[in-house]
Amino acid sequence: MSALLPTYRPADLAFERGEGAYLYATDGRRFLDFTSGIAVNALGYSHPKLVSALTEQGGKIWHCSNLFRIPDQERLAGRLVANSFADRAFFCNSGAEAVECGIKMLRKYHDDNGDPERYRIICAENAFHGRTLTTISAGGQPKHTVGFGPLVDGFDHVAFGNLNELRMAITHETAGILLEPVLGEGGIIVAEPQYLRDVRAVADEFGLLLFFDEVQTGMGRTGKLFAYEHADVTPDVIALAKGLGGGFPIGACLATERAAVGMTAGTHGSTFGGNPLAMAVANAVLDVMLEPGFLDHVAAAGKKLQSALARIAAEYPKAIAEVRGLGLLIGVKCAVPNTDFQAALRAKGLLAATAGDNVVRLLPPLIVGESEIAEACAMIEETCAEIAA
Ligand code: PLP
Repeated sequence: MSALLPTYRPADLAFERGEGAYLYATDGRRFLDFTSGIAVNALGYSHPKLVSALTEQGGKIWHCSNLFRIPDQERLAGRLVANSFADRAFFCNSGAEAVECGIKMLRKYHDDNGDPERYRIICAENAFHGRTLTTISAGGQPKHTVGFGPLVDGFDHVAFGNLNELRMAITHETAGILLEPVLGEGGIIVAEPQYLRDVRAVADEFGLLLFFDEVQTGMGRTGKLFAYEHADVTPDVIALAKGLGGGFPIGACLATERAAVGMTAGTHGSTFGGNPLAMAVANAVLDVMLEPGFLDHVAAAGKKLQSALARIAAEYPKAIAEVRGLGLLIGVKCAVPNTDFQAALRAKGLLAATAGDNVVRLLPPLIVGESEIAEACAMIEETCAEIAA
């Protein structure tokens, strides 16, 4: 009996090491890992550049707090800003904290503009923004909120993709709009590019800030550095985490100067946020992601995997109802319970996650190769054949 708080239901499987896209279990088995630590290990396991960035920095300085300047933090902020819409970056330690920073920023922006009554944020139904009290309130899903009331006030929910509902939800109290460009935990539902452009136009019409939660979609996962680029839309704020640290805990909130103007000295902070260890690793992640061809590889690998899956789905409609996604953020909507599908894949040696809407979520590391895609598809096809039989 473990002394852990039993908030998780882990598979009875533990690993002693990982290499590239493969994990080696303590019982000697090898698995092809298409979970990537839930879209975190963007460069796979034991990437030599990340290992050396971490170990080199580990011999110098781990932590000093933001009482002092952290040169690698300034460098990472500069590089993220240079490669995005943003002018400013704040570093924290998780996705939920990155979203929380953005929510505070939206409120502060209107308060500073003399409109303190504008504090409400329009969010999507079935959204996921993290597990703090504020972010479960923003997510609004009963499975996360029940028993934890009273929730944080100020979030209104509309159907994802429905512009009319969104417009109808705007009041004189609305501060902004918070959306995932691809509903992740909600079942890998990709927003129409036109919907995101229309949301931008509505935000401008009503003086609202547009905040994208790119915790899962950001840092190359969709084949572009940020998912908003697919729609050619410029947000005011984004939240990042997951892939940014390649497995080292880090979050970031990026914003335009205009949106961030109220976040002055003393208004927000984090003891650990942006510490030298995290910054060394995240800068190394960015070194790799900004190499010419890296994002093209992700886009091509995503296309290859999605088209192979579409072929399997067409052959086995009794197993797969639909394949959808963007880049290497892929949802396989199952025709049988997704947890059964996931368990069958695991028994063959392929690790996959699940998501809402009965989806099995495939999140290979972004460095995944053709042979690994073929190996995964073979295991998926065998699983489908067994289900169909
Ligand atoms: N936002 C999105 C879109 C996410 O997918 C997640 C985590 O899955 C979060 C926020 C919360 O991130 P974290 O678990 O690092 O707090």
